[in-house]
Amino acid sequence: MKVLFVDLHRQYLSIKPEMDEAIANVIRDTAFIRGKYVNDFEREFETLNKAPYCISLANGTDAIYIALKMMGIGQGDEVITASNSWISSSETITQAGAKPVFVDVDKYFSIDADEIEQHITERTKAIIPVHLQGHVVDMDKIKALCKKYNLFLIEDTAQAQFSEYNGQYCGTMGDVGTFSFYPGKNLGAYGDAGCAITSNFELAQKMRMYANHGSLVKHQHEIEGINSRLDGLQAAILSVKLKHILKWTELRRQHADYYNEILSEIEEIKLPKVRQNTKHSYHLYVLRAKKRDELTKHLAENGVENFRQYPVILPLLPCYQYLGKTAKDFPTAYKHQQEIISIPIFPEIREEEMNYVRDSIKSFYTNYIHPVSI
Ligand SMILES: *Cc1c(COP(=O)(O)O)cnc(C)c1O
Repeated sequence: MKVLFVDLHRQYLSIKPEMDEAIANVIRDTAFIRGKYVNDFEREFETLNKAPYCISLANGTDAIYIALKMMGIGQGDEVITASNSWISSSETITQAGAKPVFVDVDKYFSIDADEIEQHITERTKAIIPVHLQGHVVDMDKIKALCKKYNLFLIEDTAQAQFSEYNGQYCGTMGDVGTFSFYPGKNLGAYGDAGCAITSNFELAQKMRMYANHGSLVKHQHEIEGINSRLDGLQAAILSVKLKHILKWTELRRQHADYYNEILSEIEEIKLPKVRQNTKHSYHLYVLRAKKRDELTKHLAENGVENFRQYPVILPLLPCYQYLGKTAKDFPTAYKHQQEIISIPIFPEIREEEMNYVRDSIKSFYTNYIHPVSI
């Protein structure tokens, strides 16, 4: 058997008629840039998230960069973020002209809220917590810190669309929530796409302006900006998928529950824990495994696609060597780096596929690590 990490074609087949029609409509209307389909998606995304303003953008990285830039963050400023994330969470800080400050993670793989305060200086201007894998960050603690030190709060929600904290969706609890619609994300386009949501009208207007060459009204350029627009085709594709996203999120949770049940008997692996009062959206299902490197290889050889999110924590990447940090500065994140393995999860995964994943993990520990002597 072959189990894909995520099968986007299977998802397409499940919505093919409505998707084909939506794509044909955009081409018929030649509504390729801005216009109806982009507008519709922004309003639908606002409604579903209960967020006042959605600014559609070319990708999720730009969402963080533009938010920082329009908050006036730049040269001489520091921004705190998680030591384990995709590089967008930190490279955007540098792009804006500021310095990234990395903080260790907790047992839920997300920024350790208790560790943040010791990294706050008079240069700190914002915190970018990352709801990694779909896990939810300890938001009350981070919100309190932002209030105490007057810091901006940008939630990197790229991996946590419709995850919940005390009944509230991720991305709606800070100044700005940023989203990626990269195809493999829970709500994925058929190319690059992203957005930001906020309840701050002024900030929304500034971000919208910056993303469109500094203009809200054609040929009136208040400032210089960039071109970071969501295109009509991607917007229409996202609108189709948005109708299914809550059901798909629920399916991911059911599959995670099933994995929790069938994998619990395997002693050599630790299953993902979920923080109290939160709902995980399982963008990823991440195990911590003994003999991780060998397990990775064994699963791949048996047709089970698997990844590491991420193989090297951000501060230890070559591009951040200038910060002079070592593994000792991030003990938990570094420990996770040696142990994590993401196994296939997506709404359309079948029970027999999950059973096969379990069997493949089990056979590794019983036959390979503890071979029966003959
Ligand atoms: C995917 C991702 C992004 C940015 O996404 P793009 O749309 O690819 O630019 C940002 N942060 C995290 C944590 C992500 O996983």
